Amino acid sequence: MNLAWSWNRDAHELFERIDPVLWAKTRDDPVRLLQDVDPARLEAAAADPGFVALYDEVHDGLSHLSADKGTWFRQTYPGSDSGPVAYFCAEFAVHDSIPIYSGGLGILAGDHLKSASDMGIPMVGVGLMYTRGYFDQHFDAEGWQINEDEEFDPARMPLSRLHDPDGSGLATVSIEGRDVALGAWEMMVGRTRLLLLDSDLAVNDEADRPLTNRLYESGEELRLKQEIILGIGGVRVLQALGVTPACWHANEGHAALMMMERARQAIEAGADFDGAVAGVRAHSVFTTHTPVPAGHDNFSFAQVESILGPFWELMGIDSRRFMDLGLADETGPDRFHMTAVAIRLARFVNGVSEKHGAVTRAIWGSMWGGRESDDVPIGAVTNGVHTWTWMSRPVQNLLDEQLGEWWTHRVEKSDVWDKVLAMPADEVWRVRQEMKRRAFRFLVEQARDRWQGVWGKARHLVASGPLLDPEVLTLGFARRFATYKRADLLVREEERLLDLITDDRRPVQIIFSGKAHPADDHGKRILQRIYKLSHDPRSAGRVAFVQDYEMHVAKRLFGAVDVWLNLPRVPREASGTSGMKAALNFVPQFGTMDGWWAEGYTGKNGWAIPLAPDLDDPDAWDWSHTFDLLENDVVPLFYERTSAGIPMGWVDMMKQSLWIAGRDFTTGRMLREYATKYYVPAMSGVEGDDPPA
Ligand SMILES: *Cc1c(COP(=O)(O)O)cnc(C)c1O
Repeated sequence: MNLAWSWNRDAHELFERIDPVLWAKTRDDPVRLLQDVDPARLEAAAADPGFVALYDEVHDGLSHLSADKGTWFRQTYPGSDSGPVAYFCAEFAVHDSIPIYSGGLGILAGDHLKSASDMGIPMVGVGLMYTRGYFDQHFDAEGWQINEDEEFDPARMPLSRLHDPDGSGLATVSIEGRDVALGAWEMMVGRTRLLLLDSDLAVNDEADRPLTNRLYESGEELRLKQEIILGIGGVRVLQALGVTPACWHANEGHAALMMMERARQAIEAGADFDGAVAGVRAHSVFTTHTPVPAGHDNFSFAQVESILGPFWELMGIDSRRFMDLGLADETGPDRFHMTAVAIRLARFVNGVSEKHGAVTRAIWGSMWGGRESDDVPIGAVTNGVHTWTWMSRPVQNLLDEQLGEWWTHRVEKSDVWDKVLAMPADEVWRVRQEMKRRAFRFLVEQARDRWQGVWGKARHLVASGPLLDPEVLTLGFARRFATYKRADLLVREEERLLDLITDDRRPVQIIFSGKAHPADDHGKRILQRIYKLSHDPRSAGRVAFVQDYEMHVAKRLFGAVDVWLNLPRVPREASGTSGMKAALNFVPQFGTMDGWWAEGYTGKNGWAIPLAPDLDDPDAWDWSHTFDLLENDVVPLFYERTSAGIPMGWVDMMKQSLWIAGRDFTTGRMLREYATKYYVPAMSGVEGDDPPA
């Protein structure tokens, strides 16, 4: 039931050995494996001494979780005994078997909890239980994305229900004047507890039961209701469970009402309004993720009034004063802006890369009265990824051999990573080629399954990649099909792309993957264009589209591709994390100078498109530089081989990628920064405040 197995190599091997076919079918889900496996297989495993030895090893390895002795946090802050950090987020991606996420924000939040567990940082996560979190991606004959809802059964998941489904819930919030009772599910992520709030209780009004069903459903009203449940409900459920956090972290503005509720409670307990706000600020951290103000949640006065009113009366203030807390220049006096609320109520505010920190200071600096943007007290903590989730087993095994056994315990030391550069090129290349062949076999098997099961249409089969060749330079473009991520940059002029991929001597393949938001027709049109190209005979089977981009698909793709493409329109990508995951698997990134790449690119660990002189219309510039670089640099470097067939220059690039990512772009580094700069000071409350207007 503890998700710690999901980032434990030996545990994966253990479950796989019970029944490798079923293990693959469940997409690495031990709960389903153990429910569905033939008991005879368990008996055979129990009689196998090798299996039992591994079982004991895994068991011993995970039993350390019950104590935090020897962890980074205990060693660094030995005297600390305050309550945990409460980490609020609208989505969490811990493992695909609990599909309650849509993309990057959720994966970051899941990785955050895992690293907090590894490092012994006391933390409790708070999110929502979306029982219909995902949609399955299908395509019609015209390549138009069709969404099929998937509903899941919590009884088959590593979740514990903390409430009685027929009872009155653990806590209540008021929505449109109706009481909405909330239950909670618990997921254990190593040492970290994650609470998922659920409004689907029998006592609730029929209209309120489905509030937490779906993630990012369109419609502002529903969103505001979900944010009341997450923010206000989250605080109350923690209290009902006897959890007393010392520091409160809102990851993105969705959870801003958590701060409002704490202010309300302080006022109820006797504080005046200013004192309550100061008290909330001292213990609060807010991380923003979106670089354009319009991309943040904001609601009209009328909506706030009818859904949340009269919350302000409970705070002893009038509605104008309440709305002023959400005032933002861009949205004007009648809108309540969640990012503005969180900035006003959190002492520590940060963006998610150096560049995004600067963009955020420029956007919100006016709250500090026209200060120079360098003096605006908004910082940056660059995102990272969880090493043990995203570095594949073959790479970890190779590092075991090359860096010495203890490297896994010393990942925070840069000298461990320095050794990556000295690894023998032929070994690195051999392991990567093996990963690539395996990933291609996975793609073919998946295509075969769907061909037999659902499609029966030749073009769907071709689109899914059975004609790909593991010897050929393979580019990967996998992400949400949001407009600013620009998958269409590659097909801007199809002829030039087709020349590149069908070259006789040095061909190139591209694997695409990603979903469009169900309400995003523009994204769906881009997707359709790519999908059609993938079965267009002119592309000769060298363009493939892999359906259902999810964590386990992402992991396969890092094995399959040689270059990770990341082409967001600058400065729209706050950080981006998939390129970091690729790099942890020896895959260099090719990208625009945005988000993490603006600080991660060294000139030796991949390729960067120089900044366009006109940032208002960069598409033509970015497109031509992309193709110039691919044709003149990327392709020649990949195909330049020694007599033994090893591309020495390329392998150097691969090692440089892993070196930089392992050292600087992991959630281990990220959590050390959050803890040192924000959590520990916020746990004791901070003095010397510098509040915005
Ligand atoms: C990492 C990841 C993302 C986010 O990637 P970006 O680079 O931020 O676009 C989205 N979906 C999945 C499945 C991922 O693994």
